[in-house]
Amino acid sequence: MTRVAGIDVGGTKCLGVVIDIDRDVNGEQDLLAQVRYATPHASALVDTLANVAGELGEVATIGVGIPGLITLHGVMRASPNIVGSVDVAVGPDLSARLGRRVYVDNDGNAAALAEWRYGAGRGARNMWMVTLGTGIGGGHVLNGVVQRGVNGFAGEIGHMMVHPQGPQCTCGRSGCWEVYASGRGLRMLAGGEPGEDVIARARTGDTAAMTVLESYAQWVAVGLSNLTNLSDPDVIVIGGGVSGAGDIVMPMVQRWFADTLYSPEQRTHPALRLAQLGEYAGAIGAALLPQFGV
Ligand SMILES: [Zn+2]
Repeated sequence: MTRVAGIDVGGTKCLGVVIDIDRDVNGEQDLLAQVRYATPHASALVDTLANVAGELGEVATIGVGIPGLITLHGVMRASPNIVGSVDVAVGPDLSARLGRRVYVDNDGNAAALAEWRYGAGRGARNMWMVTLGTGIGGGHVLNGVVQRGVNGFAGEIGHMMVHPQGPQCTCGRSGCWEVYASGRGLRMLAGGEPGEDVIARARTGDTAAMTVLESYAQWVAVGLSNLTNLSDPDVIVIGGGVSGAGDIVMPMVQRWFADTLYSPEQRTHPALRLAQLGEYAGAIGAALLPQFGV
């Protein structure tokens, strides 16, 4: 048995888990330990992470996943969900505190690793994880290694521009993919109606709601098609809140995806699969960072 720890820093909580990296992990039942702390102001984040690590006990390695722009050296340049998160040296400071190297990466990269190793992306050679939440997160696992880029900012797929004259994004630019294909995007396409309500109405067969979902699914497919042209993946894993309505949305996405795929007769179509590890993907994936994230 090799106990390894992963900590997922979310907007409201820090979730720490311990897994045995030599065994399968299919969900909560396979966790050897789990600890939750409220996410503090960025100035207290290293203290909180040190407490979580302490409670998780003896482990071989520790990884941490954080939303936002995380450099190759584990510095949090900016995080949308953590107050005060400008240039916080989480990795270096936590490593110094604990007297051991701690691996820190973006939470989307961590979740991608978890789904690749234990979830819907098992066996994939070239896998994208796409998280359709309030915004859109992503991670790319190629030949068993999560791709980080030169700055550590690879996989920021929510900010692929799909319509330069489109509405403004939270990043300040216009027409990013997440303006249309995130939970916020669904709400915008529905004229301000919450996404859950649109989905509930669509389930009753409401044609106006179905039309909104078709439009949403088309925008999702646009991004998936662009990702396919970029890197020719074999599997794309879809996670996040919207995937909870996968039964009704995914068939629409599948259809639009097939319609927008470049050169469909010449290629194996990437398999679109729903994520399997749910809220634990980030923490489980963080535990995999020391082995697959460097
Ligand atoms: Zn943007």
